[in-house]
Amino acid sequence: MKEQLQALQQEALAALDQADNLKSLQDVRVRILGKKGALTDIMKGMRDLSPEERPIVGALVNQLKDDFETSFSARQQELQQRAIAARLASETLDVTLPGRRRVTGSLHPVTLVADEIVEIFSRLGFSVAEGPEIEQDFYNFEALNIPKDHPARDMQDTFYISEDLVLRTHTSPVQIRTMLKHDPPIRIIAPGTVYRRDSDLTHSPMFHQIEGFLVDHKVTFGDLKGILTHFLNEFFGTGLEVRFRPSFFPFTEPSAEVDIACVICGGSGCRVCGRTGWLEILGCGMIDPAVFDSVNYDPEQYSGFAFGMGLERIAMLKYGVNDLRLFFENDLRFLKQF
Ligand SMILES: [Zn+2]
Repeated sequence: MKEQLQALQQEALAALDQADNLKSLQDVRVRILGKKGALTDIMKGMRDLSPEERPIVGALVNQLKDDFETSFSARQQELQQRAIAARLASETLDVTLPGRRRVTGSLHPVTLVADEIVEIFSRLGFSVAEGPEIEQDFYNFEALNIPKDHPARDMQDTFYISEDLVLRTHTSPVQIRTMLKHDPPIRIIAPGTVYRRDSDLTHSPMFHQIEGFLVDHKVTFGDLKGILTHFLNEFFGTGLEVRFRPSFFPFTEPSAEVDIACVICGGSGCRVCGRTGWLEILGCGMIDPAVFDSVNYDPEQYSGFAFGMGLERIAMLKYGVNDLRLFFENDLRFLKQF
């Protein structure tokens, strides 16, 4: 019986070694220690042993069980580790891979520029106002000190719908509409679409302007310079050089054009600034008393300033776009960059 037990022990340990997964390991255990297992079979023979032999064989059986359990646990742990390692290897996640982006739309560069300008002026207490794109002659010209015989109407190259209706040529009619509705003090910023009969590399018949104006007691040209210089520094970067040049607009007096140091070459001169180092960026001036007359403001009591700029031009400078037409072609390869 001793030999039988020794043989079984060897067979059991060999079987444990050969088991290459947890399932077959359990099978070995059942085959050796189970109710119908090999060890149980051998122990049936204990009945025939003499009383002296029984404890000796009993001790051997226990020894075999202990040895088997020890080897079983060791092998079990080994196989478990191997299973975990295999699973980790097969389910590897590369956490450095970039995420999958959802395709989302983006705002048009002209919208982005308008939003940013509105935000800067909002912080200065300006509110947004809008007006119609089909405008009456009165708001687009007459009330802005551009009477019927005024040469400035030639400058405008207007789309006429009828004798009295035009596609507005600038956002300035919003000034008139606002001032007719509200008494001073007012601070308005007015983005919008405007139309002129111009179409070439740098002109589009439809484009966008943003207009700002402020009316209150004792507003001076110094206030205008201060606010515009602040705005241009916020928008293009602190420390930007700004200069005001005398100019003419029918609805402001005095009037000025504002230049900034070229954002492309920094002022040393390049193709974009025509080698001058300066870029013309907006027009402005003190609101003409004749305009106050047409909205029934008393020019003795109130003064104010107005300014306007082309959003496409600002967007071209801000984003380094060299062809105006890109803004209107709706090419997603271009638009997605913003
Ligand atoms: Zn330049």
